[in-house]
Amino acid sequence: MISKDRSFDAIVLGAGGAGLMCAGIAGERGRRVLLIDHADSAGKKILISGGGRCNFTNVHTAPDRFLSANPHFAKSALGRYRPEDFIALVDRHRIAWHEKVLGQLFCDGSARQIVHMLMEECARGQVRISLGRPVGQVSHADNCFTVRYGDEAATAPALVIATGGPSIPKMGATGFAYDLARQFGLKVVEPRPALVPLTLGDGDLLFRELSGVSAEVIARVRKTAFREAALFTHRGLSGPAILQISSYWRRGEEIGIGFLPDQAADWAVAAKRARPKTHFHTLLGELLPGRLAEALAKRVGLWGELANLPDEKLRAAQARLADWRFRPNGSEGFAKAEVTVGGIDTASLSSRTMESRRVPGLYAIGEAVDVTGWLGGYNFQWAWASGWAAGQVL
Ligand SMILES: Cc1cc2nc3c(=O)[nH]c(=O)nc-3n(C[C@H](O)[C@H](O)[C@H](O)COP(=O)(O)OP(=O)(O)OC[C@H]3O[C@@H](n4cnc5c(N)ncnc54)[C@H](O)[C@@H]3O)c2cc1C
Repeated sequence: MISKDRSFDAIVLGAGGAGLMCAGIAGERGRRVLLIDHADSAGKKILISGGGRCNFTNVHTAPDRFLSANPHFAKSALGRYRPEDFIALVDRHRIAWHEKVLGQLFCDGSARQIVHMLMEECARGQVRISLGRPVGQVSHADNCFTVRYGDEAATAPALVIATGGPSIPKMGATGFAYDLARQFGLKVVEPRPALVPLTLGDGDLLFRELSGVSAEVIARVRKTAFREAALFTHRGLSGPAILQISSYWRRGEEIGIGFLPDQAADWAVAAKRARPKTHFHTLLGELLPGRLAEALAKRVGLWGELANLPDEKLRAAQARLADWRFRPNGSEGFAKAEVTVGGIDTASLSSRTMESRRVPGLYAIGEAVDVTGWLGGYNFQWAWASGWAAGQVL
């Protein structure tokens, strides 16, 4: 028998961005909410996000910046809770922020302010919070969910899965959301690490030796392309352009890197006409970081003065440098992935409320769901928007 003290209107599992938002909103609507997390503090990923300043949203948020088996699913929630709504909340809490590149908004001070703000909202909604106790069995009978946590148990007619994805397990991330979803008959779209560095095999050793070199590039997989910085590492490729493209990349596929995104189509041939005595590797060195230029020139195999190099070879080099093919042999995996692509199948959920179509009263929000944003504040915007959508109806 569960005491009245342990009976709630809603239980939210996971006190990350999505769970905190959802619990606070429902609490402020007068619902009695219990928020449970096995970690000893709330919002751990928020604290480490954006280099400690939390890139909390992106002003260019639009559904086409999210990956999902159903690209329409995120539209409703993203359309009803927008970046300006979160900015208004941040402003109400007098948190100073600034816009960096590409519409990314960061705290001037610390990510801690965002966690503090969400905790204050939960306090306003009188949300009960249990931290540091593992969640055990979750059961459902007579339209009521029972959750065992530590040596306690609580019941509610509504249960929200907000335990995120398995990226960065050393921060407490687990696949618990998927286990729970499956327990209730919901499907899970195969989870894959995303926003993650890619690794290169022995065939690309030359590039692994460029560790620390970065350059602005266009990274492509199939029809998707990102123009941002790429960074060579001792294991392979990283930097924003690579993290972005990693979300689209599938094992075994090649990625294309355009090394000279600002050069006109016939740049090497034009340089040959204008400065025939210039050496090819010197020309490349004017356009790219020295070590990278040298490695690429070596690979292209063009040495000597431009005047002595046939146009046809220069054109072949131009084409290769505009779409350099790498075949990553893997990624750094969930240990280093900022997010997870895949997750609880959106076909099982209402896009308006995040409630399961199969099990009334069961909700899933945030990264646990098969909606994954680009790098740059999109993932938090999804956490806020999906948390808000569920928080409205609990
Ligand atoms: C290093 C890093 C930097 C990032 N930077 C940004 C950024 O600047 N901007 C951005 O938009 N996104 C960023 N992200 C992505 C962003 O952090 C996530 O998309 C977001 O936190 C997802 O929110 P969530 O609430 O769904 O899940 P989470 O934040 O992962 O929260 C899930 C919660 O559930 C708890 N939990 C897990 N398993 C269990 C269990 N079995 N029992 C009980 N509790 C459990 C966890 O402890 C956690 O508190 C970053 C991610 C990482 C790893």
